[in-house]
Amino acid sequence: MALDLHKRILSAEVQSSKAGSQVIVAGWASEVKSLGKIAFIKLRDREGYLQLVSTDFKLIGRISKLTNESVIIASGKVQKSKAKAGGNELELKDFEVLSLAEPKLPIDMSGKIETDLSKRLDYRVLDLKNPKNLAIFKIRSQANASTRDFLLANGFIEMQTPKLVAAGTEGGATLFQADYYGKKVFLSQSQQLYKQYLLAAGFDRVFEIGPSFRAEKSHTMRHLTEFTHFDFEMAFIKDEDDVLKVLEQWFVFLLKDLKVKCKKELELLGTALEIPKLPFPRVTYEECLKLLSTISVKLKFGNDIGTDDEKKVGELVKKKYKTNSYFITKYPFGLKPFYIMTDGEVSRGFDFEYEGEELASGGQREHRVDILTKQIKGKGLNPKDFEFYLMPFRYGMPPHGGFGLGIDRLIRYILKLENIREAVLFPRDPERLMP
Ligand code: ATP
Ligand code: MG
Repeated sequence: MALDLHKRILSAEVQSSKAGSQVIVAGWASEVKSLGKIAFIKLRDREGYLQLVSTDFKLIGRISKLTNESVIIASGKVQKSKAKAGGNELELKDFEVLSLAEPKLPIDMSGKIETDLSKRLDYRVLDLKNPKNLAIFKIRSQANASTRDFLLANGFIEMQTPKLVAAGTEGGATLFQADYYGKKVFLSQSQQLYKQYLLAAGFDRVFEIGPSFRAEKSHTMRHLTEFTHFDFEMAFIKDEDDVLKVLEQWFVFLLKDLKVKCKKELELLGTALEIPKLPFPRVTYEECLKLLSTISVKLKFGNDIGTDDEKKVGELVKKKYKTNSYFITKYPFGLKPFYIMTDGEVSRGFDFEYEGEELASGGQREHRVDILTKQIKGKGLNPKDFEFYLMPFRYGMPPHGGFGLGIDRLIRYILKLENIREAVLFPRDPERLMP
């Protein structure tokens, strides 16, 4: 190769280069146009597009043989573009083909022809070439980084916990099972057990951003069989509101940070992040039932608020509190897992709701082993089956609480994507294991 790859600069750097300077760029020839006396290559790289132009007949001849999506390295002189959009372009001096693409592409990535999501996912790597998709994953990457920044600054320790486990904590119905040298093994549904272990060990504040697996044979816009779970737990809390305070502050920090650090990507997606006011309303479960009764939805204490009614609560809360971000608190214990602390029938469990959909669930956990044992029995379960869970509680467990949140749902909601699958690189659902 005659052109030096180490001298490559990105398209965005060409925009800030002086006219007349000689540069080297590399990327995909997303569009190739040869019009006889002039030829254009619309080069795409990680930072965007750059127009390469040539009036040299030898180069024009070579350009006309170039296929869309071939990878090239090119050298040329920076000049002001005459196109309406303005900016810089490159007057091509030379180029080399590093990888010639086949002439027919299975899907259109330019966004000009609409392709249904399922087909896009079949050809996900090609689909991800679309700069709008790249923008989604740059934002997702920044969201994880901002989350880490916030938590590390607030005394949290990042953990990595096992994904191959001997038992579940979120109910047997959604466990994936496999063979482990003749024994049963399950894919972890959440970090619940391990984050509590670490608080028993004295870590005080922990979090993880890692995969969880749920055998949910549902085909919704918000469920996957593998998702990225942001799970967080803190010790020495007075009640669940201590957790809510950190959660709402993290959420506002995250949105503000993304607004600054992902300005370009958000503009490309045409998405304005709405930053909710602090504190978020704490809407009790009882209040949700009352709100629903004003639109003639009659639910009794203890009834689950189904997906449609949850959406309606979102609209009613928006009307009353002028916000799309709120907590539903004080759920009946019957609707929450055995490990949530209760005050009689009412539990200290909550959901974090965004636009009437669940983004996170959490609560204060029961840390007193005798009461916890009773709660396990109360749910019709056998405490013997939970000895692995209970053991550390016998040797000193501080009062504590936390939550679990799906990063995929988070990205879907804040970017207003229609389907959770768009927020995941290679989504897994009951039908999809490939690519
Ligand atoms: P839902 O009621 O919406 O099915 P859940 O109550 O079963 O969710 P939790 O066990 O509370 O889920 O998990 C905590 C969070 O993890 C959820 O609020 C959600 O953001 C995310 N999550 C749970 N299951 C899935 C899934 N199958 N796909 C994507 N995200 C999920
Ligand atoms: Mg939940």
